Amino acid sequence: MQPIKPQSPLHQSMITWRHWLHQRPELSFKEELTSNYIANVLTSHNIEIHRGLAKTGIVATVHGKHPSDNPKTIGLRADIDALPLQELNEFAHKSQHDGHMHACGHDGHTTMLLGAAVYLKEHNDFSGTVHFIFQPAEEGGAGGKVMVEEGLFDLFPCSAVYGMHNWPGMPIGTFAIHNRAVMAAVDTLFIEITGKGGHAAMPDQLIDPVLTGAQVITALQSVVSRNLAPADPEESAVISITMVNAGKASNVMPDTMYLQGTLRYYDKAIGDLIKQRIETIIKHTCEAMGATGSLRIESGYPATINTPEHAENCALAAAKLVSSDAIKRAMPPSMGAEDFAYLLNACEGAYIWIGNGEVSGEHGGCMLHNTRYDFNNNILPLGASYWVELTRMLLKY
Ligand SMILES: [Zn+2]
Ligand SMILES: [Zn+2]
Repeated sequence: MQPIKPQSPLHQSMITWRHWLHQRPELSFKEELTSNYIANVLTSHNIEIHRGLAKTGIVATVHGKHPSDNPKTIGLRADIDALPLQELNEFAHKSQHDGHMHACGHDGHTTMLLGAAVYLKEHNDFSGTVHFIFQPAEEGGAGGKVMVEEGLFDLFPCSAVYGMHNWPGMPIGTFAIHNRAVMAAVDTLFIEITGKGGHAAMPDQLIDPVLTGAQVITALQSVVSRNLAPADPEESAVISITMVNAGKASNVMPDTMYLQGTLRYYDKAIGDLIKQRIETIIKHTCEAMGATGSLRIESGYPATINTPEHAENCALAAAKLVSSDAIKRAMPPSMGAEDFAYLLNACEGAYIWIGNGEVSGEHGGCMLHNTRYDFNNNILPLGASYWVELTRMLLKY
């Protein structure tokens, strides 16, 4: 039985909060209206808050009413930022900030965590402490990393930290819980191939960086397919070359070709192997063509890896709300990246997905980062109830 019921007064409040946030999407580290709104909701319910971590971050704290000799503390995290997208939805709660949009559902994540905080403040029938972490700048700004570096877990020590993301395409009323890898590590590749430019009609006097680059792009696709075991999803990886730049005229061979791309993987050893193979391919392909190549790799978010014990806790909490069929334990991890990884690198825990409903292509029924996406109001009570059940279970007195 859900502690927070559909159509309850708290569900109605959550819809109001979510629509307010959806109308005012703000980008990484600039979530000022958002942060003020979160703070107002929390303080109007007499919940203590700490502000200022990673600029706009908030940590709210609720203590259980039962004393304990060995009190535990857990962290629950929601991301609060939006994306630089122009919303194409036409409903009343559409974005009022031109060019900005809550297209990843962080308005919903924030609202579910607010709902859980408000509920647990009133029903603090547990022992120990729960910290509600409202984290800015998930979309590329590594706000999670900044919060950790600014002392999140020194100020608010937690025995475990948990995260949740909505997942379009998974039906309402379902959860997906991964034992280990859930989101990938992301690195960016910058490749420079230098030949010798000149008149395109005299290729015998030139070294062609474009032909060399084309061969590099093709050869790079052998790295994953010929070095990694195909059977294990956690050992998989992606290399995509996505930007190609060379030349300005059809009759002039350029000196240089520039490539950029993205690299995704879960396991660090796999990542190291791939990077070494990429470097070898670039060096020797260029050498064979008489050109020279260089590679720079910029590290992005690390992989989000759950601890199996905490994934099990999440599954037990979800099982109090939905049937076991609705808790997916074998979904492949995503090649998307998530800065909750930095929190999991600093404190053990787990990150799960909650179904946002079918992807229909209609208003709201879209994949993440789509201009017609919308978080599903119908899952607000289930998501908030999940936080409540997880807290009750872990902080049982
Ligand atoms: Zn996103
Ligand atoms: Zn997101």
